[in-house]
Amino acid sequence: MTVTDDLIKRAAKDLAAASHVVALTGAGISVESGIPPFRGKGGLWEKIDPMEYAHIDAFLRDPAKVWGVLIKEMKDVVDQALPNDAHKGLARLEDLGLLKTVITQNVDGLHQAAGNTDVIEFHGSFAWQKCMDCHNRCETRKINLEQIPPRCNCGGIFRPEVIFFGELIPPQHLSRSQLAASQCDIMLVIGTSAVVQPASLMPVISKESGAKVIEINPERTPLTGTVSDYIILGKAGEVTRKIVTEVEQLIS
Ligand code: NAD
Ligand code: ZN
Repeated sequence: MTVTDDLIKRAAKDLAAASHVVALTGAGISVESGIPPFRGKGGLWEKIDPMEYAHIDAFLRDPAKVWGVLIKEMKDVVDQALPNDAHKGLARLEDLGLLKTVITQNVDGLHQAAGNTDVIEFHGSFAWQKCMDCHNRCETRKINLEQIPPRCNCGGIFRPEVIFFGELIPPQHLSRSQLAASQCDIMLVIGTSAVVQPASLMPVISKESGAKVIEINPERTPLTGTVSDYIILGKAGEVTRKIVTEVEQLIS
């Protein structure tokens, strides 16, 4: 048996014995759904400069430029993406009564699509656009891209309901996440580079509250060996599928 197989069994045992699991997910969990992450191999930041496209000042300075590159590309990718085995595995863990809340940094809506019911979208949602003038909302999939940037009937520019760099996390999302992180007995950290604060602090809160912290990621992160109890090195979908199969056997 490989080290990874061993750790998958260990995670399944830990989860089966838990009563309140919370997951923190990042862009890595959606990679197997075809959505590229920001950092790491194949990440979007290899192609474009985040400060030039993902900062609120960049958007306000030149919305057409940010729409034309970042937002349009994201819309194309997100419109087609489907939940993978990692999203489905987390939905199954909720069905089994183990997983209570998903805190996600992702804006792709794939956790809800998989069936999780309590999802805190820390960085907002790409499913909706909001007019910057009259605050009228429109579903992203219904946005007309013939004109860039797309505009509302009032003439105002639409922006996605996501948090750009330089913007604050909505306080209600932050406080709910902190509460969830402090209440769990296991924090599953999947596919996040854990370098964007304050999301990366949630596992620290869990650890300090006595929870076990388990990471799933093909690469080590700043949490590895410091905050997390162990890391299962591998792809989110593959690893989560195996863990959930083991959990089902243990609790049936
Ligand atoms: P990140 O881009 O900083 O890091 C991605 C992490 O995923 C890395 O640690 C990488 O090793 C790991 N990874 C790569 N492939 C993986 C796989 N198959 N399985 C598991 N892990 C894998 O992502 P982040 O930590 O979420 O922070 C970046 C910010 O980017 C977030 O705030 C989020 O809002 C935004 N973002 C969201 C999406 C999305 O909604 N899907 C996509 C890109 C970026
Ligand atoms: Zn408007």
